[in-house]
Amino acid sequence: MVKKDVIIIGGGASGIICAIKAKENNPDKTVAILEKQSRIGRKLLSTGNGRCNLFNLDADDVEKYSGSFFNNLSALFKKCSVVKLGEEFSKLGLVTYCDSENRVYPYSNHAGTVLDVLRFRLDELKVEVICDTKVTSIEKKDTFIIKAENKKFSCEKLIISTGSPASPKLGSDNSGINLLEKLGHKIEPLSPALCPLEVKDKAPSIKGVRQKGSVTLFDGDEYIKSESGEIQFTENSLSGICIFNLSAKVKDLKSPIVSLNISPYNENYGQLLHVLKINAQSFKSREIKRFLDGMFINKLGTAILKSSGVNKLSAPISTLKKEDIENICDTIYDWRFKVEKPTNFDKAQVCAGGVNGLEIEPRTMESKKIKDLYICGEAVDIVGDCGGFNLNFAFTSGIIAGESV
Ligand SMILES: Cc1cc2nc3c(=O)[nH]c(=O)nc-3n(C[C@H](O)[C@H](O)[C@H](O)COP(=O)(O)OP(=O)(O)OC[C@H]3O[C@@H](n4cnc5c(N)ncnc54)[C@H](O)[C@@H]3O)c2cc1C
Repeated sequence: MVKKDVIIIGGGASGIICAIKAKENNPDKTVAILEKQSRIGRKLLSTGNGRCNLFNLDADDVEKYSGSFFNNLSALFKKCSVVKLGEEFSKLGLVTYCDSENRVYPYSNHAGTVLDVLRFRLDELKVEVICDTKVTSIEKKDTFIIKAENKKFSCEKLIISTGSPASPKLGSDNSGINLLEKLGHKIEPLSPALCPLEVKDKAPSIKGVRQKGSVTLFDGDEYIKSESGEIQFTENSLSGICIFNLSAKVKDLKSPIVSLNISPYNENYGQLLHVLKINAQSFKSREIKRFLDGMFINKLGTAILKSSGVNKLSAPISTLKKEDIENICDTIYDWRFKVEKPTNFDKAQVCAGGVNGLEIEPRTMESKKIKDLYICGEAVDIVGDCGGFNLNFAFTSGIIAGESV
């Protein structure tokens, strides 16, 4: 049995920074990371399309998150604000820049730079990194007894930072969340998030089309959340960052519906209807399939016409009735899709669900159920919007856990 003072299971964003803080605060203690893959930080290297959007200057805005840890976020960010997080990365020697949407990236525009500064610090501090070690069981006696395939470890303080099953091609799975469940933690149902939404019936065959607009998620008639940005139509699904930001909410809804408003006149329905009526007068002899060509690319315009119940596309525009024009206006302004489900973990950046947030003390990230056990990162039931909010939570919760052991 290998004895350590502090063990961190999972060498991802949260586990690495947690190990650094644990060793900085306890230089005389032995600190080790157990990682199932052959190297640490694999997912981190793929973040932000390889550029790593490591946090967001608005990251302390709790409205950017959802999940059962939500009510703990203010206490968490009071302990480690985004300013402190920025200082921690400066201390590691990382130079960053911020874009117009407050997203913070390494100045190198390379996720590898972020992983390098973290790895160099682990080396300097002599944190032991033990790879190819998948933890399969944990027992709490006087100390924690941790079993990996052919190895056994014990430790006084244990941190679980094993992430989530999102993006399994990067080696992710729910083995860590299963370990936490066996230790007695309540697990909120796991569901893909920050991913496209599969839509039922009216799914238009306009794969590849992109259109600016606003999107609103409803549960039946109840308003849930709105976003705006570029909507991407894929095969049987809607995608784009604005859609991703709605996806974490879908698992809790009975009748999820997404409404698209792709009108050039935003909320002004009257102006849209007025322009459509004028165009119907001005271009009477053109074929109906050309009716929306001045507003949208033809493929999208045709899909809108069909979704509005207009099918005789070769007839002249003069044959459109008043109700047809109103229906077309309704579709452009409020195009509704029944949501089947968030696509799948392969296409998801993160996972909604995980350890119930009320079972964790946010000022330390210690489990309220098991003394000396700490949980950080995506294993916790909290999801942030796109734009650096998830790495922000992983790093912040990792720092707090590391400073608390
Ligand atoms: C393609 C992609 C792009 C993304 N881009 C961004 C972005 O730009 N900005 C942003 O904020 N967020 C982004 N995210 C989300 C972000 O990467 C995660 O929220 C974050 O990495 C979570 O950190 P973590 O430490 O909790 O988990 P991870 O980084 O997943 O690390 C968990 C580690 O634990 C290990 N592990 C798991 N189980 C065991 C076990 N049983 N034994 C031993 N080790 C184990 C895993 O191998 C892994 O190395 C992106 C995600 C993806 C998939």
